[in-house]
Amino acid sequence: MSRGSKRKSQRSDPLNTAFNVRPAIPRQLERDVLVEAGHRCAIPTCKQTPVEIAHIIPWETVREHTFNNLIALCPNCHDRYDKKHEIDRNAMRQYKANLSVINQRYGDLEKRVLEYFAEHPNEDYIWLPSSLEILLWYLLKDGLLVDAIGRGFSIHISIRDTYSQKRYNLTTKGREVIQKWINAKEIE
Ligand SMILES: [Zn+2]
Repeated sequence: MSRGSKRKSQRSDPLNTAFNVRPAIPRQLERDVLVEAGHRCAIPTCKQTPVEIAHIIPWETVREHTFNNLIALCPNCHDRYDKKHEIDRNAMRQYKANLSVINQRYGDLEKRVLEYFAEHPNEDYIWLPSSLEILLWYLLKDGLLVDAIGRGFSIHISIRDTYSQKRYNLTTKGREVIQKWINAKEIE
């Protein structure tokens, strides 16, 4: 409560107006936050555009713009967080942390595959051109995705498909990672 009353007195003090001026977010910082989320809403099941820059801890409290406290959200998720409080702060912190883990660990196609499974919870496989396998390398290496050929699924692959496309199954581990990501739990 003391913090609230302190804020109130600062706001009502005409000499303290400079304290209440909120500077614009520096362009480079804004760009970094947008790039981190791929210019889409950072909520893994949303991923809508356009996006706004949101403060995880409100600007009124921190009074600074820092990368770790900023996250890209669509207007709807921004409202759900700031106004409706449907997403809590710890969850938002974890979304931000997971964004960083996934960005550091995986490439663009891998992130797209993870997003696909996040958006389609009933799907457990995906067909992709076999020539792109190198771009799925870390999902395969980490055991989140597995090449379905030779695992009882090759029967579904036509001769034409074996040349052009490969079926990749989402593993139990892959499903767990996606569930954690969706539910704002820590991804190890
Ligand atoms: Zn959103």
